[in-house]
Amino acid sequence: MNYYAAPVARLIEEFSKLPGIGRKSAQRLAFYVLNMREEDAVNLSEAIVEAKQRTKYCSYCGNITDIDPCNLCRSEQRDRSMICVVEDPRDVVAMERTREFKGVYHVLHGAISPMEGIGPEDIRIKELLLRLQNVSVKEVILATNPTIEGEATSMYISKLIKPMGIKTTRIAHGIPVGGDLEYADEVTLSKALEGRREI
Ligand SMILES: [Zn+2]
Repeated sequence: MNYYAAPVARLIEEFSKLPGIGRKSAQRLAFYVLNMREEDAVNLSEAIVEAKQRTKYCSYCGNITDIDPCNLCRSEQRDRSMICVVEDPRDVVAMERTREFKGVYHVLHGAISPMEGIGPEDIRIKELLLRLQNVSVKEVILATNPTIEGEATSMYISKLIKPMGIKTTRIAHGIPVGGDLEYADEVTLSKALEGRREI
């Protein structure tokens, strides 16, 4: 038996498909929407449709964009001889926030994970190799996550790139700022040690 009017039940159903949203939260969101001004509800639904329909992957870097090539790939300020390889478009945003990196990106859209049945052909590795053949690149920075999958993906890519004579680096991972050595797990600590530099 359904306690809700059909359109409300549908809205709850759709909200409950979102990550981290359980049944209770979905109900709360649905009722929140019902209480919104109609104009705001329309804006919300239009924003969802527009974000979905007007964005695509940049044909160079794979980042999410509404114009192809994306702003970063078109920018004259960016050094095209340096490519930073990341797993996810959100990682591009994180890197950009540091304002440290002036090169361009390559978004893999995932990482190699035998456990989940994701192989090298399922992420954008061949697109990266194609880029490296077409543009002269001095350095590829592997900035995949410090997880088993991210490490495996970095190793796999570096083995493919090194024979091409391109410098391949891995970002150093380690103790977060404000962190305490005592509480760092051994993987983090060994990565921090590995990534040490002279001062
Ligand atoms: Zn791009």
